[in-house]
Amino acid sequence: MHVAIIGCGQLARMMALAGWPMGIRFSFLANPDENIDCVEGLGTVVRGQDGLEGAELYQALGCPDLITVEREQVDTSLLVSLQPSCPVYPQPEAIQVCQHRGREKATLEKLGIPIAPYRLADSAETLKAAVDDLGYPVFIKSCEEGYDGQNQWRLTTPDQLSALLAERDSWPAMVVEAKVSFEREVSIIAAQSADGSQVCYPVTENAHKSGILIRSQAPAPNLTPALEQQAQQIVQRLLGHWGYVGVLTVECFVVGDQLVVNELAPRVHNSGHWTQGAGVCSQFENHLRAICGLGLGNTQPLQNAGMLNLLGVMPPASIAASGELQLHVYNKQIRPRRKVGHLNLQDQDALRLSQRLNALEECVYSDTTI
Ligand code: ATP
Ligand code: MG
Repeated sequence: MHVAIIGCGQLARMMALAGWPMGIRFSFLANPDENIDCVEGLGTVVRGQDGLEGAELYQALGCPDLITVEREQVDTSLLVSLQPSCPVYPQPEAIQVCQHRGREKATLEKLGIPIAPYRLADSAETLKAAVDDLGYPVFIKSCEEGYDGQNQWRLTTPDQLSALLAERDSWPAMVVEAKVSFEREVSIIAAQSADGSQVCYPVTENAHKSGILIRSQAPAPNLTPALEQQAQQIVQRLLGHWGYVGVLTVECFVVGDQLVVNELAPRVHNSGHWTQGAGVCSQFENHLRAICGLGLGNTQPLQNAGMLNLLGVMPPASIAASGELQLHVYNKQIRPRRKVGHLNLQDQDALRLSQRLNALEECVYSDTTI
């Protein structure tokens, strides 16, 4: 089996690392200027260039059996051009929705899935009207090219809006969202195969710093069965809607006894990295299993599992050497806030695990601000 992955970042790396023991070979498509250190040695890398698409690109990728993606910011017409040559999973239609916050929200609304009140804007006038309508605090997010809190503004006062409006002459398409007063953030990751079989991992609790994920714990401590069930129903509704094949992630806010969906990721997700060290079939392996039509693996860990992101830092030697943790390094150059690796750890006790995560975070970030 040969799988081609669009993208060469850490998610492509970890997908390939999960597939190698299964005998899957990989090739990768890189953007013209994309750094490919993460996938070095894991398969052939093809550089994208203008006009390279369809059968010609398929050949350049080594005639794979299947094509998948590690990020949603891909040219979906390029994916469509590859479809006559082999299956492309997840399907470009689902990716096209998830890569644009406006389309994503419209789909969630149509399916009756709760989201924060929002407005669309694409100019200074419509932006101002949207903020006036929703009130403060408010989040402004560009519809495309947003990740790790990029292209996103949080405003709490009219003065901040005036300052932002003075900053630029033209605006991209944006969603303007009311602030959700949430108790915590969670995500649910599920996989579906072409024959409709599905698995869900337990809901994961996530903590962010400056708009970027810093740590996760699964199962989310003390989550009510009703919320767990809501999360499963939401992800299942989406999988069913698209006849989706592969791993899909839903990020949610917990507000009382209700989940409010923040956003979707049509791929393996940072909040699922704990699955690599928890005695379950990892999200990376289950994604490959789903797209290759192999039986889906166990998603229920026997222990609590946690993950701490390494954002622009490597851990001190004592932590890197600890047998109690699993260090994952992505081969990237260290730059502030950049995801360069993560640590996974497990514990029989949820409270103790969260205390260990606290201590670990303090130690790893003692000299670094994010
Ligand atoms: P990532 O790629 O890390 O998921 P992103 O750039 O796609 O981030 P969002 O997930 O939309 O952006 O927002 C990042 C974080 O900002 C959220 O996880 C949450 O902590 C906060 N946030 C975003 N929107 C809202 C909102 N409407 N109300 C409250 N907090 C929000
Ligand atoms: Mg997010």
